[in-house]
Amino acid sequence: MVDRSAALLPVLALCFCAASARAQAGRSALLEEMSRSFGVETGAVAPAVVEVSTRPGREEVRFEYPDVTKDLESLTRFVNKVVGKGKKRRVIPIRIDTGVLAGDRINQKQITHIVLHSSLGLATTPAELARRDHLNETGGGKFDSCQASINYLETKGSAAHFIVCRDGRVKQMAEMKDYADHVKDPDFVQKSIGIETDTGYVRAPYFFPGSGDWDPNTRWRMSVSLAKLIRMIHKATDGAVALDSRHIMTHAEVDAAYCAAAGCRAHSDPGPYFIGEMVPTFGDPAVMTTARENLMRLVTDKASPKTTFISRPLAADGFQVVDAVGLSRIVLWKLKYSRAQIQTMKQLIPTEPVVIKVAEWTTASAPKSMPPGTKIMDVPAEPGEYEVEAQDLVGNRSYTDFTVAPAGTSAPGSIASSFRDAPERMAFAEPLSDPSDASFE
Ligand SMILES: [Zn+2]
Repeated sequence: MVDRSAALLPVLALCFCAASARAQAGRSALLEEMSRSFGVETGAVAPAVVEVSTRPGREEVRFEYPDVTKDLESLTRFVNKVVGKGKKRRVIPIRIDTGVLAGDRINQKQITHIVLHSSLGLATTPAELARRDHLNETGGGKFDSCQASINYLETKGSAAHFIVCRDGRVKQMAEMKDYADHVKDPDFVQKSIGIETDTGYVRAPYFFPGSGDWDPNTRWRMSVSLAKLIRMIHKATDGAVALDSRHIMTHAEVDAAYCAAAGCRAHSDPGPYFIGEMVPTFGDPAVMTTARENLMRLVTDKASPKTTFISRPLAADGFQVVDAVGLSRIVLWKLKYSRAQIQTMKQLIPTEPVVIKVAEWTTASAPKSMPPGTKIMDVPAEPGEYEVEAQDLVGNRSYTDFTVAPAGTSAPGSIASSFRDAPERMAFAEPLSDPSDASFE
């Protein structure tokens, strides 16, 4: 791999230090060209868009589970019980049922449903929940409500396949091919994947605002990771788990149907807050929707971010990136050589780095609140060819190219600054994007 960081620094300095001084010059060149090409008057009001189209990127769900191996190792078949006091105090291991039975469900094509649960997190009062949320946030008590839920399920001898923590981590308790004891109905044990969500207790008398919490302002990472996990399962089952609420069910729905006939006590998770609470919509917080609908929008979203040019009267020109479910990452790449040069060069010097990262925005820049659906970044003043790589919260990508011409120049027939399809992704000597964006941490 070629180290790109050495090349990055001077360009960053050049672009950002020079940006304010050169922005006006670059802008007037652009406006002049617009005027010539499209017959519009230059002035304070310029056409917002010159020539815009964005090529959608192939959806890639790169989703890794850093916790999987560790947690499977710690999924012990024994728990320790402490008995006695003082000198008589001793620890005895107790064998427990892990709630997992080996199967071959992927090859047998048995998986058709997902069942969503709320995990306890062992918080049964608002005060306790607040205390544990605080510990989670500060790391003070090293309390991990996700791990507490796993421990609890283990002692009960039951398991789900996955648990999605409120900070977006995903832990796996059982392989998808295996059966996990997460619902009473044996038919659903056979055909479903169980997913716990770290949303808290939702059964009376422990049912309170803050339990069963799906607020995307505070727990957007949980919803996004859950959506990506569901999309991954959809792929892993060749679409047998269809992306609708008939196949992505709640534990309450599965139990209601089964327990009415079998006479058992139905579970209520993930609770009425999931079904009925109105929450801000991903991508457009001004619109309210139900938590379930919000999740399904993430689950079914296929639209890549759209990048357009905007002219700003009092600032440098910008490129605006918009996505219906929210943005996770925008990278502005500068081509170190022209496209023509690269086409010639790539046979000659295949390892030469041809792109330089000029600017990057990720959700890490706004860690607390729900990521925006619209983000505007400055068009760099430095002349050259650029590519905007944009990715939404569930992994849809697009690539948009534009050119910034040298100030005051505009060759006849050329557009000084325009956005267009990336005609064909160049065979860059190294991958453009960093795949390590999976965990949102
Ligand atoms: Zn449940």
